[in-house]
Amino acid sequence: MYHGTHLKHAKVIITQGFQRSTDGLLGAGVYISRNIEKAKCYPLNVDKKDKVVFKLRVQVGKVKKIDCDNHPMQKSWHQNGYDCAWVPPNCGISTIKSGREEDCVWDPSRITIVDVACCMDDSTRADLRKLVKSQRRAEGVCNRCHQDESSGLHPIQSCWECGKDICPFQHKHF
Ligand SMILES: [Zn+2]
Ligand SMILES: [Zn+2]
Repeated sequence: MYHGTHLKHAKVIITQGFQRSTDGLLGAGVYISRNIEKAKCYPLNVDKKDKVVFKLRVQVGKVKKIDCDNHPMQKSWHQNGYDCAWVPPNCGISTIKSGREEDCVWDPSRITIVDVACCMDDSTRADLRKLVKSQRRAEGVCNRCHQDESSGLHPIQSCWECGKDICPFQHKHF
């Protein structure tokens, strides 16, 4: 999934993780989307060059579908035992006019930043990507297969077909 934010918050989010918004359409949580075009809109009213979009890997857990206005669990899904709320695409919720889907995750630790999907300035993007990689390494997670590698670094090799760096523990690489 994706999350758009202000460039000035990018480094702190990469190194310290996301902070829950206190309120919003789906109540408290971290707001993310499978739709990159939706993520690109945030934060609202900020110039394009000051925006950055993270690519995320999310363990959604137990998901509550919120697909209509005034849904009884619209803001109380977490109190009702759910880890994530999901507004499906084009479900007709009046505040999302674009029809683009939205997710709200309660626990920020369910979200891992795996890449910087959009950032207008190439050198800033390269710097942030480097930071994402070193952060993941510090957390003992393989950047390729996203599995734990605290017991030993995975032997990354170049793919003989496309030349990309791949990890032998990746489930698929075409
Ligand atoms: Zn690996
Ligand atoms: Zn390949």
